[in-house]
Amino acid sequence: MITRLARAVRTIPDFPDKGIQFKDITPILSDPILLRIAVNALTDPFRDSGITRVVGIEARGFILGAMIADELAAGFIPIRKAGKLPFRTLSETYDLEYGSDHIEIHEDAILPGERVLIHDDLIATGGTAAATARLVRRLGGKIAGFSFLIELDDLDGRSRLETDITIISVLHF
Ligand code: AMP
Repeated sequence: MITRLARAVRTIPDFPDKGIQFKDITPILSDPILLRIAVNALTDPFRDSGITRVVGIEARGFILGAMIADELAAGFIPIRKAGKLPFRTLSETYDLEYGSDHIEIHEDAILPGERVLIHDDLIATGGTAAATARLVRRLGGKIAGFSFLIELDDLDGRSRLETDITIISVLHF
């Protein structure tokens, strides 16, 4: 099953910039069987974790994140790039290869003590997921886990996340 998923990921060289090997997950999303396998693999480790909110990171983290939230009977919270969320927000900065960027969350998205799962399609350097974790913690949320469809092992992004929290990556490249 997992091998079928891995084979479906399409690697696009030099997209969007030279030197980046872009992992395109759209062949998984468009196939009903692979989509179901992916959602189950991302959800199963957290079924009995008391999670009430799934936080998904713009933009590809919205797709599977919302499906995971539905599976867990949890709510879905979007994390967006600066200036996109309409209500009052908290913001965090994270490093890019050149410069930095901001992500935001609505200030009322998570209640203190809520158990939160953070999802994105892919973890590379871990900067985006680490900044998301800071946003969740600033709102008083308890991070119950991280779930990624793809982890780029060489970049060791998981070393930027808390060591005592469950991190699930379905596919490793
Ligand atoms: P990072 O903060 O370095 O862990 O980057 C993770 C974010 O960038 C995720 O939202 C990914 O969707 C995106 N990303 C980074 N590298 C890639 C890649 N090689 N292919 C597809 N998406 C990527």
